[in-house]
Amino acid sequence: MTGTHDTSTGTGVRTGRGTTPGDGGSTRPVLVRGVRPLGGDATDLLLADGIVAETGRGMTADGALVVDADGLVALPGLVDLHTHLREPGREDAETVESGSRAAALGGFTAVHAMANTDPVADTAGVVEQVWRMGRRTGLVDVRPVGAVTVGLRGEQLAELGAMADSAAAVRVFSDDGLCVSDAVLMRRALEYVKAFDGVVAQHSQEPRLTEAAQMHEGELSAVLGLRGWPAAAEEAIIARDVLIAGHVDSHLHVCHVSTAGSVEIIRWAKSRGVRVTAEVTPHHLLLTHEEVASFDPVFKVNPPLRTPEDVAAVREALADGTIDVVATDHAPHPAEDKDCEWDAAAAGTTGLETALSVVQQVMVETGLLDWAGVAERMSVRPAGIGRVAGHGRPIAAGEPANLVLVDPAARWRVDPGALATWGCNTAFQGSTLPGRVVATFLRGRPTVLDGELAEDAVGADTARSW
Ligand SMILES: [Zn+2]
Repeated sequence: MTGTHDTSTGTGVRTGRGTTPGDGGSTRPVLVRGVRPLGGDATDLLLADGIVAETGRGMTADGALVVDADGLVALPGLVDLHTHLREPGREDAETVESGSRAAALGGFTAVHAMANTDPVADTAGVVEQVWRMGRRTGLVDVRPVGAVTVGLRGEQLAELGAMADSAAAVRVFSDDGLCVSDAVLMRRALEYVKAFDGVVAQHSQEPRLTEAAQMHEGELSAVLGLRGWPAAAEEAIIARDVLIAGHVDSHLHVCHVSTAGSVEIIRWAKSRGVRVTAEVTPHHLLLTHEEVASFDPVFKVNPPLRTPEDVAAVREALADGTIDVVATDHAPHPAEDKDCEWDAAAAGTTGLETALSVVQQVMVETGLLDWAGVAERMSVRPAGIGRVAGHGRPIAAGEPANLVLVDPAARWRVDPGALATWGCNTAFQGSTLPGRVVATFLRGRPTVLDGELAEDAVGADTARSW
């Protein structure tokens, strides 16, 4: 049994709405009882003043909100390196607020908002606008990603330094959705971000090899009569970029790795000391190109779903550390962009509310990772790659209270209409997945309780961000 109950006497209790901006510490204390940090031995956690104030068994705390967490696993709040929040410009698909709700419900405490908005996040002004919207919503720390090139046009570098120096303190730069295909621009971007310890996150897709591509290129694409997206179009760019990153000694991050060949190239580059990190999405960990035979556009994603051998390779690479992190590539679309013929449908699936469940199914229940391994790949390492202070920290006294409590014994059926994201498109619709997020805490303040958005959570204090 899990649940929350109120032990307050009704006096002197301050909920989120009443916190004082700037101190991050006047939220009501929370006592989490009997939780298993990283799946280990059960303990109580007292969250107060934005941190884990105390750990131990049999604690009491007057006036605290008590969360009975018997049987629940505590992980550091999840950090997503790859989220499309769509605002500004496509508020019909998602907003910073709706995406933040989905993120909190999925157990995230920080997300990186991709730059392919309208206008593109290629100036200090736009990244600060997104950052402020995130703070105002206050459910997760929204870290804007800056575009690498002006307007994502791949012609000239955007103002990377100005975005890094802005209030949004951008550290991750990406033209995601599009590949920085010009090798000289990619080299210059990698050289430039070294000045402020940044990282260039590449959407690896050779554009000429993938013109009008509709699915993974192979026997099945020939049978279905759909234009192929060859594995080589991803692998060629990754091979080029790891060589450039090694040459200029800068940090390259490879978005959504999808092929066994990409894994081999990254493994080789790491063995040579190249500063390369990589991510894989939940959908590339679970689903194969065989889903495309249904012609249901929920399975149209970019890069495309690949072969069973590729899925096995990315799982193994995530387990052995060749692939560093899981990132959602949460890509919400309104119905009119997805409920159409395969060729005309937009690419992408939502992912924030299903990511942890998919990882439990494909990595934990298969014995490839334990919960400490999940914490490493969904919180610790993404926080490190994104340079997000205060997230991905140990669950220990004195550390920031950014936490998620998950019930690994739960099972739930994915109903697109029941998700918080405005995107109608989930590749997991109708699936029964293990594990449910019961509670999420951002600096000690509950954003999710009993699997629902916490009352008064939106708009509460988000000061002391990072
Ligand atoms: Zn992408």
